[in-house]
Amino acid sequence: MAKARTRRNKDARPEAWAKRVRVARARTGRGVFSERWFAVAEIVGEIEGAIIDDLEYSSRYCMDLGDSRCLEPDPPFRYMNHSCQPNCRFQWHDIQEAGRGPPRRRMFVLALERIAPDVELTIDYRWPAHMAIPCRCGTDACRAWIVAEDDLAAVLAAIGGRERAATTPSGSGASNAPVCQPG
Ligand SMILES: [Zn+2]
Repeated sequence: MAKARTRRNKDARPEAWAKRVRVARARTGRGVFSERWFAVAEIVGEIEGAIIDDLEYSSRYCMDLGDSRCLEPDPPFRYMNHSCQPNCRFQWHDIQEAGRGPPRRRMFVLALERIAPDVELTIDYRWPAHMAIPCRCGTDACRAWIVAEDDLAAVLAAIGGRERAATTPSGSGASNAPVCQPG
């Protein structure tokens, strides 16, 4: 029995994180970079950290676990920068462990495209309107604000900018929950 458990744990961690990604200086502060190739939809790594079960909790890093809890990520993935045209995304899975108890919700980083070594790994933060800040990701798809696509109109309306959004602002659509939504 002990033997089977050892093998399962080993399978869950085929490589040390250090061989997959590294934290290094990026255009703005620190960023996470690939240490090897990743295929489309491959799991780049698991985001570990503290699970926060408090709707009042607010942090720019915290990731929505989809069940009113959020994950305050540890390094290295704590340092993943935003891009409006990201090469990675978050995805959570409910994973049954050791054959008993409820499944545990775990968060992973998945590659959205084929990624070469030494490329900065980015995700779309999808922040709600009240957390929006100007974006300098520099991609063709840049929305100018680090904010969820659905909340962009609300941000532009709030600043009374020259830009006109195609959709009507939703008003009080912003959530209190700290969020980097998986998707
Ligand atoms: Zn951008």
